[in-house]
Amino acid sequence: MADTYDLIVLGSGPGGYVAAIRAAQLGLKVAIVERELLGGICLNWGCIPTKALLRSAEIFHYMRHAKDYGLAAEKISADIDAVVKRSRGVAKQLNQGVTHLMKKNKIVVHMGTGKLTGKGKLTVTDKDGKTTELSAKNIIVATGARARDFPGVPADGKRVWTYRHAMTPPEMPKKLLVIGSGAIGIEFASFYNDMGAEVTVVEMLDRIVPVEDADVSAFLEKALTKQGMTIMTKAGVDKIEVGASGVKATIKDKDGKVATTDFSHVIVAIGIVPNTADIGLEALGVETDRGFLKTDAMCKTNVDGIYAIGDITAPPWLAHKASHEGVIAAEAIAGKHPHAMDPLNIPGCTYCHPQVASVGLTEAKAKEAGYEVKVGNFPFIGNGKAIALGEAEGFVKTVFDAKTGELLGAHMVGAEVTELIQGYTVGKTGELTEAEFMETVFPHPTLSEMMHESVLGAYGRAIHI
Ligand SMILES: Cc1cc2nc3c(=O)[nH]c(=O)nc-3n(C[C@H](O)[C@H](O)[C@H](O)COP(=O)(O)OP(=O)(O)OC[C@H]3O[C@@H](n4cnc5c(N)ncnc54)[C@H](O)[C@@H]3O)c2cc1C
Repeated sequence: MADTYDLIVLGSGPGGYVAAIRAAQLGLKVAIVERELLGGICLNWGCIPTKALLRSAEIFHYMRHAKDYGLAAEKISADIDAVVKRSRGVAKQLNQGVTHLMKKNKIVVHMGTGKLTGKGKLTVTDKDGKTTELSAKNIIVATGARARDFPGVPADGKRVWTYRHAMTPPEMPKKLLVIGSGAIGIEFASFYNDMGAEVTVVEMLDRIVPVEDADVSAFLEKALTKQGMTIMTKAGVDKIEVGASGVKATIKDKDGKVATTDFSHVIVAIGIVPNTADIGLEALGVETDRGFLKTDAMCKTNVDGIYAIGDITAPPWLAHKASHEGVIAAEAIAGKHPHAMDPLNIPGCTYCHPQVASVGLTEAKAKEAGYEVKVGNFPFIGNGKAIALGEAEGFVKTVFDAKTGELLGAHMVGAEVTELIQGYTVGKTGELTEAEFMETVFPHPTLSEMMHESVLGAYGRAIHI
């Protein structure tokens, strides 16, 4: 006899565990199935441990610049093993937190690999090969994604790293090649650069962090280059040859010139592959689009009773998007009528140094969509708090619909912008116009005042510039 539930959630990342909790809150009997670690990639191998690493790098950076603040820090050094140990400790703490939340919400946890065996049926195979049959009217698939390998060169964890290896490095890289300049590539490039490695980033497109506003990409490239990084855009890695003591990479630069360079290590950050194989989806006829599961606004697939959320579905592949979808799916299953999520209201953050954060349309995309725009752009140098912090580099850019005053997008680069973006996200979700932003009182002295100034600037009213 199968263990019967109202809902089975397959995968316990920020999509799956949040869906399970919301469903339990709504009175459903819920089981969750996880083959590795509760909390998924995000808190074990993604968002959280990288932020712990980046925090160490940030403190190391400030220690090196202690003099700028009237302080002395002598004989400073970094111990990569200790930095990694701290990061793993942070991940472990959060993994235990999710374990506690499952218990608190009376969610039954099945540790093992899950496979859908029919409509409403799922088999879990644990590490000893023991199987358990589960059944439920509804199943949420939240199995996430994994790193995409460089073609023909699988990551070996020694010289060629995915994010997992980069997070638990066997040693500090001396000369590091990072392939791909999306959020993951740039965060590791920034971490290892701050920690003292010689870093080269190769990006195929014409600018780094290519989903961001072009002004942000240009500013970041300048800032990272000033910090000593080599950035190659419109460039491609043609070949990687792995040796015992390093890697030879053949790179074609933007002018078509091909050169082979030695690196001690390579991080491959060229995208993700959804975990759709061997979980029984094909047999059930679940539709995909370029490998990712297709869902409607309530996160339902084309098959009744099967929902999908998070990285296994369409982009953006972000933890908060996965969690939000988890809530939508759980509420829809419980017979509620949740709001659909607007992709343009999902913020994105990159925790490099300086940080990047954005929500909504870039200036170029807004124009492409036919909007006549008003643009505000306020620099950190015009903000008292930024100067007091010794962080006077960066800007806050806002894009408004000139006709209606609707905020179409906000784009920031500089210290702590990942903490600021939520102000604009709330405004966008509430469909606020420039008038409400202008009437809002921003506390002084804060970096958030730049958000006010950027809006004022879009309408020719900025005060401090
Ligand atoms: C290095 C790095 C840094 C990142 N930083 C950020 C960030 O700062 N902010 C942000 O928003 N996002 C970040 N992300 C992305 C974020 O981690 C993902 O978007 C998020 O984890 C997706 O959540 P999910 O629930 O869809 O899947 P996952 O978190 O991938 O969880 C899926 C879970 O399903 C399990 N699973 C898979 N198949 C099976 C099976 N057959 N049976 C049982 N269990 C299974 C897996 O073991 C895994 O635990 C980062 C990612 C990486 C790699």
